[in-house]
Amino acid sequence: MFEKVLIANRGEIALRIHRACRELGIRTVAVHSTADSEAMHVRLADESVCIGPPSSRESYLNPAAILSAATITGVDAIHPGYGFLSENADFAEMVEAHGFAFIGPTPEIIRMMGDKIQAKRAAIKAGLPVVPGSDGAVRSEAEARELAREFGYPILFKATAGGGGRGMKVATCDEEIDEAFRTARAEAGAAFGNPDVYMEKFLGAPRHIEIQVLGDNHGGAVHLGERDCSLQRKHQKVLEEARSPALNETERTRIGEIARKAVVHLGYTNAGTMEFLYENGEFYFIEMNTRLQVEHPVTEMITGIDLVREQIRIASGAPLGYTQEDIRFYGHAIECRINAEDPETFAPSPGRVTDFHQPGGMGVRVDSGLYQGVRIPPYYDSMIAKLIVHGATRNECLMRLRCALDEFVIEGIKTTLPLHRKLMGSPDFLDGAYDIHWLERFVDGG
Ligand code: ADP
Repeated sequence: MFEKVLIANRGEIALRIHRACRELGIRTVAVHSTADSEAMHVRLADESVCIGPPSSRESYLNPAAILSAATITGVDAIHPGYGFLSENADFAEMVEAHGFAFIGPTPEIIRMMGDKIQAKRAAIKAGLPVVPGSDGAVRSEAEARELAREFGYPILFKATAGGGGRGMKVATCDEEIDEAFRTARAEAGAAFGNPDVYMEKFLGAPRHIEIQVLGDNHGGAVHLGERDCSLQRKHQKVLEEARSPALNETERTRIGEIARKAVVHLGYTNAGTMEFLYENGEFYFIEMNTRLQVEHPVTEMITGIDLVREQIRIASGAPLGYTQEDIRFYGHAIECRINAEDPETFAPSPGRVTDFHQPGGMGVRVDSGLYQGVRIPPYYDSMIAKLIVHGATRNECLMRLRCALDEFVIEGIKTTLPLHRKLMGSPDFLDGAYDIHWLERFVDGG
């Protein structure tokens, strides 16, 4: 087992990783920008190193600064968290070249899954169902029209180098192909420096369902069930739940088993998530995230498995020590992402937290680096806390969540707490009757 781990991240996830290390008896090194010197994870870590000015590019996204800190402090391994350098294959390679363990999958698989077309081809080979579409980039309008006739309108152009939902355009008939193709290529070129686009059948009202998987270095592989992350705004997840209210037992067993087999086929190691769109009883793979996800706690709550601890154990060479049959699912969990944003306009709201009180009680968990007096800097992602609630049933979970949201106090800045409270009054949400477009309509409808 490692003796010392460097946490190459900030905010709630840095604290989350610190806690997992502590429980394993591992010492921690926090790295931080000058804007984060008062952050909770910096205060709690055994050692801390300032790696640069506020700008992410010069601090949390700066491999040289992070590797220097790792060398000076003599760590065994680096945990990248999510975001920042977590899915950067070059960084993972550099970490290993410097003699540290990278707490994540291999650089090769990170690189492959980062390329949309390669990832889709690998997914097909690994037996994952995908959205019908082009094999590789579409070269011309004529080719696009021909393909569209094959699998039917509407279709979607997507950037091969894509990310964050940019460079995507829909066409509903032959006449719309020219413009959609042209604008998707222009957007992709501008956003990613690569205008290539591929094509998929456009699903009208899917849900976003993802499967958490773990693989070790000894052929062990398990899935930890699904998460429903359909409540999104501008492709950003807002609230996630496990299990999905939309799936029946047969469907969840089927997709879980498909995902587990794909882990074995890919030789995938460490934690990962396979994302699917789900419509009319069918699953369609869209991408694999080769890292820990923001919403991992809902899976932890229903399985009792600490995913960060598993990541560290696997990276240190330990076998999983259990098989699929040993995994038990209990109850229901929901996570609310709380952002420092205006709940109506979603404009960022950095500043000082003047008053802070977090909810508690049975089944209530808050993952957050917040404390009274902390200053939320304007330079980074606006998510400042995650409220995760567990209950024996979805109904019990919802009742608890409503109480917890009512108790939560964050003053001095605006937060999205009111949006979550409003959601608790929505019959559609309470019934679990929502697709990936539902939340945007709910928000717009006031
Ligand atoms: P990115 O890497 O840009 O986020 P994804 O492939 O993950 O791209 O797609 C982002 C989002 O776009 C999905 O979560 C979904 O909301 C929507 N989307 C992607 N592919 C399709 C499709 N074939 N039909 C309908 N919506 C889609």
